[in-house]
Amino acid sequence: MATFVDRVTLHAAAGKGGDGCISVHREKFVPLGGPDGGSGGRGGDVILVVDSDVTTLLDFHHSPHRSATSGRQGHGALKNGADGEDLILGVPNGTVVLTKDGKVLADLIGVGTRFIAAKGGQGGLGNAALSSSRRRAPGFALLGEPGEKRTLVLELKSVADIGLIGFPSAGKSSLIAAISAARPKIADYPFTTLAPNLGVVQAGDSRFTVADVPGLIPGASEGKGLGLEFLRHVERCAALVHVLDCGTLESNRDPIKDFEIIERELKNYSADLSDRPRIIALNKIDLPDGQAIADMVEPQFKERGFEVYKISAAARLGLQELLYAMARTVKSYRSSQILDEKTRIVLRPTPVDDRGFKVHANEDGSFTVIGAKPERWVHQTNFSNAEAIGYLADRLASLGVERELFKLGAKAGDEVRIGSDDDAVVFDWEPTIEAGAELLSGPRGDDMRIPRGWEKFDEEAIDQLDDEELAQQWEYQVADPTSPKVEGEGR
Ligand code: GDP
Ligand code: MG
Repeated sequence: MATFVDRVTLHAAAGKGGDGCISVHREKFVPLGGPDGGSGGRGGDVILVVDSDVTTLLDFHHSPHRSATSGRQGHGALKNGADGEDLILGVPNGTVVLTKDGKVLADLIGVGTRFIAAKGGQGGLGNAALSSSRRRAPGFALLGEPGEKRTLVLELKSVADIGLIGFPSAGKSSLIAAISAARPKIADYPFTTLAPNLGVVQAGDSRFTVADVPGLIPGASEGKGLGLEFLRHVERCAALVHVLDCGTLESNRDPIKDFEIIERELKNYSADLSDRPRIIALNKIDLPDGQAIADMVEPQFKERGFEVYKISAAARLGLQELLYAMARTVKSYRSSQILDEKTRIVLRPTPVDDRGFKVHANEDGSFTVIGAKPERWVHQTNFSNAEAIGYLADRLASLGVERELFKLGAKAGDEVRIGSDDDAVVFDWEPTIEAGAELLSGPRGDDMRIPRGWEKFDEEAIDQLDDEELAQQWEYQVADPTSPKVEGEGR
């Protein structure tokens, strides 16, 4: 027996990006051509897509861990690695995506609507892509980024395709019992006193769910009883079936009056719901009076343009026809929900702010750098390659991370962590001169680390510098000849 689950946890793991390749072009007579290492492929995304064939979240209940494939490594001769394959997961229309702590990320409505559950890692650049006029033959490549890993909660708000509405004791529960193959269990239902009955119905080759709306009484739309709460849960059903009691002995009631009262409640509740197709089921025709009353009111409903079915939930009469009518309505509703290609909505988690970063001075004297870019660059760095580390240092300096560290009082040798606690990478900080110059100095051109006279290229002053200092200055000048702080005519 199938269990109906309307709330599941999904652990989505996107693919890792492929690593970039380090390679040097070789051919006859050209033993050392340019760098020709290709870049790694992108890791596959995990994507949720609303699929009309999927009506429950049952599959996720059985296998909650889903991962996309990784990108392939780049190769020599400028060959880029293949991208990983996206993993497309079908979800029912109306699936709500939440974080673990219940924050709604997306409401997936309309067949074809997509949501990126986990983003694949970018492929690492190969040494060919990293070469530039300044860096003609990079002996390093970037690593592929790890794929995103997210834990999401999926909730199916519309628990039913068909909502059964009607007065108490009209026979809604009996009808569900008579037509459904499975008696689903409702997980985490937010009601304590009353729970709707749910059934999974198989009619021909179509499968759909039916729920009754218990507690729908006059005044429900103003919050009387619990009808309102339940109405909320059939908001997205394909059709409503009025179950009308033709055998009631109460003198002030008849099927037409009941119908009108319930309709009024729906209208008061929401215009949305009152637009939904209606099917009329005249119940209890097994009773002699029931049959007579059903025959009597049938033409009046037909005149109003409704499909009418005379049934007995208890004696199982006329149910087949009603089921096929339900199946047809569900099918046409589902296909009407298919948006055309152009209007398909792609939902992405709000992008993280890529520009900023924050440096935090910790109590133990270390510093923590948090920011999408620096963290990402660290993941791309192969720490066994000195050139790759140098490249990372350049990137961090140009983003302004070093400047910020200086401002906060970081000194050479201080511990700097990039990333948040669990997966931080720890460095002993070796500041580049460039970053400190601006802060240690007074006005531009007055760098106090440069001895007086240096700026006039005074031979004597240069001779006074000890070798190490001189080497440092030279290294700096060679490493970054474009920096305005030291060169510059303005000195
Ligand atoms: P609900 O309140 O709409 O869910 O109604 P129930 O399904 O609980 O039914 C209320 C009463 O009507 C019960 O006593 C059922 O046995 C009875 N009932 C439901 N359907 C039929 C029917 O087709 N014929 C007869 N004679 N009684 C029915
Ligand atoms: Mg009931």
